[in-house]
Amino acid sequence: MQLHELTIKQAIELLQKGETTASELLEAFLKRIETVDRKVKAFVTVTADEARTQMGKAAGGPLNGIPLGIKDNMCTKGVRTTCSSRMLENFVPPYESFATQKLWDAGAVLLGKLNMDEFAMGSSTEHSAFFRTCNPWLLERVTGGSSGGSAAAVASDMCLGALGSDTGGSIRQPAAFCGVVGLKPTYGRVSRYGLVAFASSLDQIGPITKTVEDSAILLNTISGHDPRDSTSSPEETPDFTYGIGKDIKGLKIGVPSEYFTCGMDPEIEKITRNAISQLESLGAEIIEVSLPHTDYAVPVYYIIAPSEASSNLARYDGVKYGFRAEGAADLMDMYMKSRSQGFGAEVKRRIMLGTYALSSGYYDAYYLKAQQARTLIKKDFDDAFKKVDVIASPTTPEAAFRAGEKTSDPMKMYLSDIFTISANLAGNPGISVPCGFTGEGLPVGLQLMGRHFDEATVLRAAHAYEQSTDWHKKRPSL
Ligand code: GLN
Repeated sequence: MQLHELTIKQAIELLQKGETTASELLEAFLKRIETVDRKVKAFVTVTADEARTQMGKAAGGPLNGIPLGIKDNMCTKGVRTTCSSRMLENFVPPYESFATQKLWDAGAVLLGKLNMDEFAMGSSTEHSAFFRTCNPWLLERVTGGSSGGSAAAVASDMCLGALGSDTGGSIRQPAAFCGVVGLKPTYGRVSRYGLVAFASSLDQIGPITKTVEDSAILLNTISGHDPRDSTSSPEETPDFTYGIGKDIKGLKIGVPSEYFTCGMDPEIEKITRNAISQLESLGAEIIEVSLPHTDYAVPVYYIIAPSEASSNLARYDGVKYGFRAEGAADLMDMYMKSRSQGFGAEVKRRIMLGTYALSSGYYDAYYLKAQQARTLIKKDFDDAFKKVDVIASPTTPEAAFRAGEKTSDPMKMYLSDIFTISANLAGNPGISVPCGFTGEGLPVGLQLMGRHFDEATVLRAAHAYEQSTDWHKKRPSL
């Protein structure tokens, strides 16, 4: 086995036994990036020199010498953080995000910053202002998004693991498209300090890894209370690896009827149903549940997320930081030129939608109504979790689509997150694990969602499933 093929768990063991060194590991990944990233294009910035320096200073924590990639919307001190936007193309943060700082404190090493849809708005990574990241399984296909660079980098063995962010599915959907494990923790579990804000009541940072156990290992490191994020939870951080390896006999798994309706790709439905039968054969009890307000999730999200985005993105005015247009006649002209030239089309669309929904006279009709519907969606989950421990569904309604297929039709693109958005609106944790391949050889993801702050049960179920199959061992040939 080559070094770049290792999991985080295996790499930690090899390092501890002295069978490899942190420096060998780092060089193996830098070489891998050099050979493979020409095709995949996952990295916006590779931090080879910084990584060599950082490794020399690593203090011997639990992730000592583990090379990781970070989605380019998390601030890394002294390292360009672009959000894949012209607006922040040359932005070098003077501070470090909470989640990444935790990783470096544990000894992990930053390999580079990963491509994404601009400001995390999108489902294919085609909205990056720089370039499109290619799906390692079939390069003409998209990686999913917005954490497409993170998912593709992990799937093509260019890093041992990565962080992504998930506002409506941006960790789970690209993980499903690229055949890796993506976890969105409970809202508040991981501090958003230093995460460039998109929709603050929905955004959550989480790991993208090759295995469920690696996901638990990274979650252990990045969780915890942070007074600098007022929505960071004071909830105790358990050891998320606790349930890894435990069986799921008697675990109650709910299957929501609303997630298997018409319009869904029959191949995806068949693969997901097989995965659910597999969970049953492992001793889980499968129970049909209903999440009656599911149909409202996408429309509600596309009021709330753009509203919050329009407010969050007001700070990019060309004055304080970020892009400033040349040749403006006066202050107002400078604002307008900077924002017109600095933002891409999808970001502008969101700002306009949000500004409209929040404007006086429309606020009650749209934003307030959406918040009320959001409460009903959350209640659906609360009710379902009185009966079951975990909810299983497909992660996406179809496998990775062709590049360009949905870029001219935003509504089609928005529907990519139809099964993932509800967990953001309700705040629940959700994971996507590989559960099979389509006839075209594209990976499919199984989504498992859990009660608030019960990532441990989600991880336990996901791990039991993963270990009873071989899907996670398959790698694309590049
Ligand atoms: N695809 C969704 C959107 O475009 C979700 C994005 C995300 O989770 N960051 O808003």
